[in-house]
Amino acid sequence: MDDAAVPQLRATSSADAEGPLDDWLRDRRERREEAGLRRRPRTLPGRCVDLASNDYLGLSRDPRVVAAAREALDVHGAGARASRLVTGTLGIHEVLERELCELTGQPAALAFSSGYAANTGVLTALGDADTLIVSDAHAHASLVDGARLSRSPVRIARHSDVAHVAQLLAERTEPRALVVVESVYSVWGDHAPLLELAETCQKWNALLLVDEAHGIGVAGHGRGLVHELGLAGSPHVALTLTLSKALGAQGGAVLGAEALREHLVNTARPFIFDTALAPTSAAAAARAARIVREQPELSKRLHERARFVAATLGIPLARAAVQSVPLSTPELAVRAADELRARGVAVGCFRPPSVPDGISRLRITAPGNMELQELAGALETVREVLGNVSRAG
Ligand code: PMP
Repeated sequence: MDDAAVPQLRATSSADAEGPLDDWLRDRRERREEAGLRRRPRTLPGRCVDLASNDYLGLSRDPRVVAAAREALDVHGAGARASRLVTGTLGIHEVLERELCELTGQPAALAFSSGYAANTGVLTALGDADTLIVSDAHAHASLVDGARLSRSPVRIARHSDVAHVAQLLAERTEPRALVVVESVYSVWGDHAPLLELAETCQKWNALLLVDEAHGIGVAGHGRGLVHELGLAGSPHVALTLTLSKALGAQGGAVLGAEALREHLVNTARPFIFDTALAPTSAAAAARAARIVREQPELSKRLHERARFVAATLGIPLARAAVQSVPLSTPELAVRAADELRARGVAVGCFRPPSVPDGISRLRITAPGNMELQELAGALETVREVLGNVSRAG
């Protein structure tokens, strides 16, 4: 490009010039602000007790997990350098996939660079115009997006309503069907009726796809709800995982039959066109998966802390790592979370559209390795702040 053509472009990118979307972006921001729904990326201040993370078992800082990541860094470098089908497949990916199979009792595993990619990958690889997707009304955004991207016909089943799932499967005209659920739902902390769903899927010849993001490390002595219920290895059940919650690392995986893995390797776009999972993450997750399998007491400690949180705050105990405190408006939830942060306690604050029932809430997770004394002190602050906020609200 000659120099004469450039100045006009430069002028339009100067700091005070208006871009073509600025009016619209400003308007959207103001609307979010007015509704109390504006979000910002947040850090954890150094002095805060962290009751907001998904590191349910505290494994992200476990010395064995950190050492495994460090060793992978030395051996393989900082990145995988290519996609899995080019030259990006490293020994550590294979170790990770074996460990995930051992942990969950599934025959085959395929690692992805996130749980989000695993969910969109498996749904787009299996979905098409001849495959009905029946998705639970509380399914995570990544499952919703995967179903949409798949171009399959999608029907939403009422939350954990097996009869509704059966009805939608019975009415279908498509030759194939997938039923998409989570094993443990983090917002309500409820478990999916997996045995009944698996039976229904078997009856109507559908595949049950279970997202164990909040189940692994938590349910079934850490091995997930599918394993606990004896469904591991069933030809009617496949799983997805994130490696970024109880396993303390980063990444995701799909687990199921070898034929499913083979199909994903060849057709799942978030697998094929994505750089392979970073070796540090793969090594950390592999080590964490082994620790979870060998130390079932870790999930026991998590549940003890969850019971302590629920009893101290006087809220119903959720069968999950996350305990929820509902608040009447998004503004109150934000005010409570901000005041807690100012007083040294970080909690999650969830508002629409991230909550399926539209109820804003604080989310509190006490990791299995947190000292009880530290937790008790932080919960006392939570009680005080909730009292202040509800009086003011
Ligand atoms: N599924 C569920 C149920 C989740 O909660 C999440 C993370 N919020 C994901 C999938 C996505 O996992 P990742 O963060 O590894 O992309």
